[in-house]
Amino acid sequence: MSRILSKTATTIKPSSIREMFNLASGMDNVINLGLGEPDFTTPPNVIKAAEIALQKGLTHYTLNAGNLTVREAVSQKLLSKNGITTNPETEVIITNGAMGGLYLALQVLLNFGDEVILPVPSWTNYSAQIQMANGVPVPLITQRKDGFIPDPECLKKRITQRTKAILINTPGNPTGGVYTKEILEKIAEIAIEYDLMVISDEVYEYFIWEGYEHISIASFPGMAERTVTINSLSKTYAMTGWRVGYATAPANITAAMIMLQENVYACVNSIAQEAAIEALSGTSEYLDAMIKEYATRRDYMIHALSELPGLNVFKPLGTFYMVADISETGYSPDDFAVKLLKNTGVCVIPGTAFGGGGENFIRIAYTNTMPNLENAINRMSLFIKS
Ligand code: PLP
Repeated sequence: MSRILSKTATTIKPSSIREMFNLASGMDNVINLGLGEPDFTTPPNVIKAAEIALQKGLTHYTLNAGNLTVREAVSQKLLSKNGITTNPETEVIITNGAMGGLYLALQVLLNFGDEVILPVPSWTNYSAQIQMANGVPVPLITQRKDGFIPDPECLKKRITQRTKAILINTPGNPTGGVYTKEILEKIAEIAIEYDLMVISDEVYEYFIWEGYEHISIASFPGMAERTVTINSLSKTYAMTGWRVGYATAPANITAAMIMLQENVYACVNSIAQEAAIEALSGTSEYLDAMIKEYATRRDYMIHALSELPGLNVFKPLGTFYMVADISETGYSPDDFAVKLLKNTGVCVIPGTAFGGGGENFIRIAYTNTMPNLENAINRMSLFIKS
């Protein structure tokens, strides 16, 4: 019966990333370069903290905003790493991953028909989440020549009476593009001039290469009051399954997000919150080692993929992804990805999954071991030559 499912349920489409995984799940000997999650296990000190929390019986609901101890740890980190000063009692919320923070932020900011300017190619869930909040995603195609970051003049042209916010992601999935200070300053100027909110997803902030620096737009003068900064422990500490994220925003927005969280999931898992304190405040030795390993893999992949005929790699400045233009092979990205998977067992994601601007490329995640990456390159090489 067509009346059973809501408009939201029927509007939101599964991403083609899911389709690739469904295809791969029926196959043996797959090397997955599609998955956007660390292959590492969570650092042992964090696991230990969770064990201790369990033994202490910290098994109850927590405050909807998250325990104050976790919010204090987040507040410290926001100051030291991001240069954002926050009041942990009123301006920080612990969320169910970055996705939870993004969901709450969009729900409390958007009215029906409000537009959100979304630089693309982008992570697939943004567009779906904007629509779930009854908003309208307004794609802004970014160019390879600009490092896949928006041109401020083009950004201005997308602004209408209905524009409520700009959603940025730096370092960015899928391209690995990094917003420079100059670009962020221009975006900040535009946001102030047109009275827009900025939603800034910074989940890949630690994975940044070639001496680039991660900069948080909320640290600029006049921006903390119009920015929701979204982050999580998922990628940084290899904690995707724990579902801990956090957001900081002006107190009235944070309060609204907390109230919504109360009504949707009450709070983040109490054990995971304790583990989060250790992740944020404990030793950085495991994070440092993971960063080092990603850097090694990145260098290897840039070099190895560049040797393959028909592939033109964009050198990523951040994240653990890279994109390669495959137009010279004569395949569309979807055909390339499906044929590569079926013929060789190497799973990559077609650029068409990322909401525009990815029509010529595939995304490769180097969230796999060096031997697997080498094996994948061998298989890709045979595939392309054949
Ligand atoms: N933001 C971006 C840009 C991502 O790529 C992802 C996951 O791939 C997320 C957020 C989701 O993060 P979390 O697992 O913390 O919800």
